Amino acid sequence: MSIRENLAGIVRRKDEAAARSGRQPEDVLLVAVTKLHTPAEINEAIDAGVTDVGENKVQEILDKYDKVKPVRWHLIGHLQTNKVKYIIDKVDLIHSVDSLHLAKEIDKRAAQHGKVMDILVQVNSADEESKFGVSSEEAEQLIADIAEQCPNVRIRGLMCIAPFLEDPNDCRPYFAEVKAIFDRHIEDPTGKTDFKYLSMGMSGDFEVAIEEGSNVIRVGTAIFGTRNYRSEEK
Ligand SMILES: *Cc1c(COP(=O)(O)O)cnc(C)c1O
Repeated sequence: MSIRENLAGIVRRKDEAAARSGRQPEDVLLVAVTKLHTPAEINEAIDAGVTDVGENKVQEILDKYDKVKPVRWHLIGHLQTNKVKYIIDKVDLIHSVDSLHLAKEIDKRAAQHGKVMDILVQVNSADEESKFGVSSEEAEQLIADIAEQCPNVRIRGLMCIAPFLEDPNDCRPYFAEVKAIFDRHIEDPTGKTDFKYLSMGMSGDFEVAIEEGSNVIRVGTAIFGTRNYRSEEK
């Protein structure tokens, strides 16, 4: 199937899951995850209606940025502090902030560019050692610290990568735990945070994630096919 056909199927399933949880199609944003795919493939997806693309490596954003049609860029992978300067003027949302140290560097670079950078705090609700992100317990403190100490960073919500489980329904508790933290912050009388996005759900579990309250899904394989990790330079 073509990228356009795959995309149409994903959008339909996204919209149906949104309807099941009492929401409208536009209430759930699709971020097309384009890592290891070519600018030509990405442009095909944009022509087919994709408005937001996600990459997990700074270098890939830099390589593709000028070759891809205008689109919103999301950094969804682990971000090293020394690379923030390269993407601060390119990405619209950083999904993967998991330390005050990183937030402070983003704050400093954003200030230099006269902008406020939108970020999500990454929560590893399953406490998987292989994954980045703070535990649910640590999340509250990190949110408070960033809100207090980083005026050029605006926390827009949370991101979570669920464990890979054969039955995606088994991910529900991990999604629900992050949704509960999200709900506690949706109203912020201090105005220091502005929660709007709950980024949960990938190719294998996005419908379950939406049913559990996600409003941003990050889907790669189901749109572009399997990634070829051996030809990273393509
Ligand atoms: C690769 C990646 C995705 C997309 O995964 P698929 O299973 O291909 O849909 C989503 N989120 C993050 C953080 C990723 O690195």
